[in-house]
Formats: sequence, structure tokens, C-alpha cells
Amino acid sequence: MKRMYLDYAATTPTHPEVVKAMLPYFTDAFGNPSSIYSYGQEAKGAIEEARIKVANLIGARDEEIVFTSGGTEADNFALKGVAFGNENRGNHIITSSIEHHAVIETCKFLERRGFSVTYLPVDEYGLVAPGDVKKAITDKTILISVMHASNEMGTMEPIGEIGKIAREEGIYFHTDAVQAVGHIPVDVNELGVNLLSMSAHKLYGPKGVGALYIRKGTKLIPFMHGGEQERRRRASTENVPGIVGFGRAVELAQQEMGEEAERLTHLRNQLIKGLLERIDHTRLNGHPIMRLPNNVNVSVDFVEGESMLLNLDLEGICASTGSACSSSSLEPSHVLLAMGLSHEQAHGSLRFSLGKWNTEEEIGRVLEVLPQIVAKLRAMSPLLKSYR
Ligand code: PLP
Repeated sequence: MKRMYLDYAATTPTHPEVVKAMLPYFTDAFGNPSSIYSYGQEAKGAIEEARIKVANLIGARDEEIVFTSGGTEADNFALKGVAFGNENRGNHIITSSIEHHAVIETCKFLERRGFSVTYLPVDEYGLVAPGDVKKAITDKTILISVMHASNEMGTMEPIGEIGKIAREEGIYFHTDAVQAVGHIPVDVNELGVNLLSMSAHKLYGPKGVGALYIRKGTKLIPFMHGGEQERRRRASTENVPGIVGFGRAVELAQQEMGEEAERLTHLRNQLIKGLLERIDHTRLNGHPIMRLPNNVNVSVDFVEGESMLLNLDLEGICASTGSACSSSSLEPSHVLLAMGLSHEQAHGSLRFSLGKWNTEEEIGRVLEVLPQIVAKLRAMSPLLKSYR
């Protein structure tokens, strides 16, 4: 059976061009970038080239990019770095209730260390209201962190507007742009952010590498202590092949983004329309328009997301319920609950996230298979029986 991958928000396959760019840095050009002889300098040069590419993609200066082990580390670095680096100014942080666990769990950790965190609500589409951000600010607020686009239901937040408020109030602003970078245009100056998290494996780069953009002048303490790598902001020998791969992935994203976003938006809309038409008692989660080009998230009443997933898997189709990190947990998604969905609706959610190698034919196949799966599951569903 031909397998069909519709879970690109969980991770993307590494682009063959990216693998090709990385390979020499495992073997011929294996030097430690901190070594002064030519092997080392060759590796250092490759890192600096990648840094320029990543900086270019988001309108930053190359010295404002710090490579990390991924999006989670970038989020931890931003939040803990600003919190512990600005304790003398205040102890209040504002974030949203729909952030990725990398932000939410870091905030909970900071609360245990004496910081106070406001988790802003969202509306039925998952949007944070800039007015709520403004109202939540106190004279103790040192940081605002709101994600650029949701990994679960794809809603894109009004980051530019929030950035304007943060700037007016003189408060540091971080955005987790892991799902946005490489897929939609992202410019740190238009957004008005001080800090921005990225991850290579969400844009056809390798896993285990990411970056934090740190605007010049932003005060934060280093996350990793040790050597003097990354201008003393992140110790540890650099993941040279990973960073080179990240740079190549970014370069490809820049070339292909416009056309690809248009193609995916078309496929996305086709899938949303088809699912809502063919399966009754189904709703779209997230904003109908202000959403990532590749995200489809629906709640199907009277069935469990896990049961749909397993049945789709039997047909060779890979999708997800909520984020991959929490798909092994039985807790309903905190994101869908924050948007006002009931536990049952959240449990009946299904996320398809499309990517480079998906075709119209594949969308057609999902639209053929899923209504049959839902009909089969509903025929056995105690939830439907109690509804009737
Ligand atoms: N933030 C968001 C929005 C994500 O979607 C993810 C990954 O799922 C992360 C952070 C974590 O990134 P990484 O897997 O590179 O640690």
C-alpha cells in the first residue's frame, strides 16, 4: 500500500538537496569550528554562511542569530534568558493559553521560581486580542510571548499589532515562529519582535537544529554555559552538518515559498470544503482565513480522534490529533479547550498538515476514505446513540 504523509506540522522529510549539502560536513569537512587550522575554519565558514541565510529569511542581521538544538531550546532560551536576565526590572510575563508546550511548560517552571505569568484567553478561532495584551501589562511586565502561528489549528496571530504595543510599552516581545518560518513571509522588523524561535525540521531541514533570533541590545542571560561558541551566548560545539542543512533548507524555502503557499492553500481549502460537505456534524477548528496555508483541523462529533487516526493508518494515511508531542496522552488538547471546544469535540479532532509532496489525488483519497471510516465508527458509537 502506498503511504500518504499528511503530518508535515509534526515534522518534514529532509529535502534531498539539504542532505546533499550536509554530507561533506560529516566526513571531509569534519573540523571543530573553534579550531584555528583549516579544517576548523572551513567548518566555521560554513556555519557563518548558514547564519547569513537564516538572517536573510527573517530580515535580521547575521550576528542576531544564535543556533540552538531546535525550537524547544530556542523557546527555553528566550523565556528563561529574559526572565533571569531582567529580574531587577520585574517578574511578570504575558503569554497565551494556546502556546506550544515548549513555552507553556517553561512558563510553569518560571512560576515555580517566583515569576508571575498571565495566560491570555483566545476567541473561538484561537486569536489573541491585542487589546487583552495591553490590558494585562503591569509595571512588573518584562516579557510578552505569543506564538506566530498555531501548530495545532493553524491560526496566525496578530503579531505585528502586539509588537507595536510591546514596543510602545518598552517590553521585550518573543514569538515562537516554528510553524511559520519558511512557510509564510516573516520579517522581524515588521513584526516588532525582540526574540523569535525557529526549527529546521519543520521546513525540510534536519531534526535537532534551530535558532533564536535575538535583536541587538536585548538583555538576556546565556542558556548554556561552557565554551565561547555563538558569541558566548550558547556554549557547545556547533552541530555543523545540521546548521549547514538548516541554511540550505532556508535557501530553498525562500525560493519556493510564494508558489508553494498558493498551491497548499488550494489543497487545504479543497480538503476543508470536502470534509465539511461529506461528513455531517463536523466543524473546522481555527480561523477560516487567517490560518497557515497547510493546516486543516476538524472536529468530528461522536467519534474519537485516535480511532480515526488508527483507521486512517490502516489505509496508509498519516495524520494527527493535536500536536505530535501530546498524541500519546489522553488529555484533550489545551489549545482546543482554550478555544471553547467541549472535551468531546476536542477528543474528536483530527489535524491534517500538508506539504511539498502532497497532491490533489491524495486529497481526493482522504475525502473518499475518511467519510467511510467515520460512518463505520459512528455505527458503533455510544456517543451517537446517547445523542439520538
Ligand atoms: N514550537 C512549535 C510551535 C512547534 O510546533 C514545535 C514542534 O512541534 C516546537 C516549538 C518545538 O520544536 P522542536 O521540535 O524543534 O524542539
